[in-house]
Amino acid sequence: APVEKQDFIRQIVRQDLAAGKHAAIRTRFPPEPNGYLHIGHAKAICLDFGIAAEFGGLCNLRFDDTNPAKEDPEFVQAIQDDVRWLGFEWASLRHASDYFEVFYLAAEKLIAQGDAFVCDLSAEQVREYRGTLTEPGRNSPYRDRGVEENLDLFRRMRAGEFPDGARTLRAKIDMGSGNINLRDPALYRIKKVAHQNTGDAWPIYPMYDFAHSLGDAVEGITHSLCTLEFEDHRPLYDWCVERVDLAGSPELLAPLLAKGLPNEAARPRQIEFSRLNINYTVMSKRKLVAMVNDGLVDGWDDPRMPTLQGLRRRGYTPAALRLLVDRVSISKQNSVIDFSVLEGCLRDDLDAHAPRRMAVVTPLKFVLTNLPEGHAETLSFGNHPKDESFGTREVPFSRELWIEHDDFAEVPPKGWKRLVPGGEVRLRGAGIVRCDEVVKDDAGNIVELRGTLDPESRPGMEGANRKIKGTIHWVDATRAVPAEIRLYDRLFSVADPDDESEGKTYRDHLNPDSRKVVQGYVEPAAADAASETHFQFERTGYFVADRRDHRAGSPVFNRSVSLRDTWSA
Ligand code: ATP
Ligand code: MG
Ligand code: MG
Repeated sequence: APVEKQDFIRQIVRQDLAAGKHAAIRTRFPPEPNGYLHIGHAKAICLDFGIAAEFGGLCNLRFDDTNPAKEDPEFVQAIQDDVRWLGFEWASLRHASDYFEVFYLAAEKLIAQGDAFVCDLSAEQVREYRGTLTEPGRNSPYRDRGVEENLDLFRRMRAGEFPDGARTLRAKIDMGSGNINLRDPALYRIKKVAHQNTGDAWPIYPMYDFAHSLGDAVEGITHSLCTLEFEDHRPLYDWCVERVDLAGSPELLAPLLAKGLPNEAARPRQIEFSRLNINYTVMSKRKLVAMVNDGLVDGWDDPRMPTLQGLRRRGYTPAALRLLVDRVSISKQNSVIDFSVLEGCLRDDLDAHAPRRMAVVTPLKFVLTNLPEGHAETLSFGNHPKDESFGTREVPFSRELWIEHDDFAEVPPKGWKRLVPGGEVRLRGAGIVRCDEVVKDDAGNIVELRGTLDPESRPGMEGANRKIKGTIHWVDATRAVPAEIRLYDRLFSVADPDDESEGKTYRDHLNPDSRKVVQGYVEPAAADAASETHFQFERTGYFVADRRDHRAGSPVFNRSVSLRDTWSA
């Protein structure tokens, strides 16, 4: 059985279930559809969906769509695709906007209880009245409006009688509170903007804290997991849940039932955990949007982007991302994870699960002059050195090969183990070869090597056991398939691209070598792979057949990660 995970959130859930507090747990993942999901969201997704599954509960996907100006159906679709790609399925797909009518009735209830009032202060005045961390706020002059007047004004806000920003509905809590979130926070604002789900139906929109807490309550969320920056919002979350008391107010849920949604209302509990931060990348949606819009990258799914779509296209697997979330601690301690930890997760997954192939990225022709013209063989190679269940494949071999230019040195540096003029090297799975001749063009560039294959050194022969320092990979030049190979690296060249000291911004820290496109050759059994197939190209790295551009006849491979960490030497 898998080891039970022991972080503090799972401890709470375990205790709550043991104490009989809930028959079953329910969680939700609540993205705002204002951008694509990034790797930070993967942590929240794995927690929300993972914990529900581990404890026999359910997890909803809820679009937190209360801010119409920035939201788009394109993001709504992409987020669903990404959650499924990570390997999760929601119990129910919801939109916070499904509950607008419920929220509205809840607001009227607060007004009737004397817990909310319509305020005519401008945004700027509200800021002035709010006070500071060290100074208490002041009551709004509209705070003591009577219930009837408040109800009338709020209904007219809803009817669209007032312009944007003219009035707000505010909770009546405590302007002297040490927690600024409790200083009569806004619950509703006027915003005459069409909404991607509700169209023009609403000229007013609920504020995040009100909608989020009540959304959780409507869905009967038992454990509402969110990131640490909401810790200071928890008292307001609890205030909304308690004062509205959806679980005890079936009359507020009538609009829900009219939509065919069940009454599952319960009292939720918010629990905060620290965000996932990774160095050498940026995760702010604002910066990601700007990079796409300004063409610094090739769209949201550029393989260098930290978006889930980008990581997927780069060749990251759902298993590698889930592994990352298992490896980073779930706590209230903020930390920055080293990018190499992410890369290590991918290597660990692909080492176990990616079949091996041969590809040559810096091609140099190598002619074996002691084989006859037109010589053609088919060798059998195991697909995985540690796992026979991967089976074998046929690899063509002939008189003319491509080897890596980088595996040949005319004047070798100290410790060189690969090919040199007059030297020998083992061709992976084929035999021992010697370089007899270096062919150059008029400009002195090396254009071809000529050499011989030791006929007594073929695999399985006695002569194959001769001690040879280096082994190199190769492909058959007559049958290998030309391929576009995209060598990706980290998008930023400094650990903290968000650092704006010395007058720089993240744009100044882009890694100029984060993408190199080369023409190489891959063996036929790599070329005909389906898009998104992962391989280890032996000695070269882990690669994936590009999700968009790869075709069997004209292969395109992206380097997902090198075989070894070259950054933290
Ligand atoms: P923005 O504030 O730019 O809209 P966001 O990060 O708040 O971005 P949401 O769509 O609201 O984006 O996030 C959905 C959920 O994912 C939230 O519960 C949020 O706490 C969580 N989340 C976002 N970023 C991270 C992160 N880096 N690590 C862990 N969880 C995250
Ligand atoms: Mg958010
Ligand atoms: Mg946010």
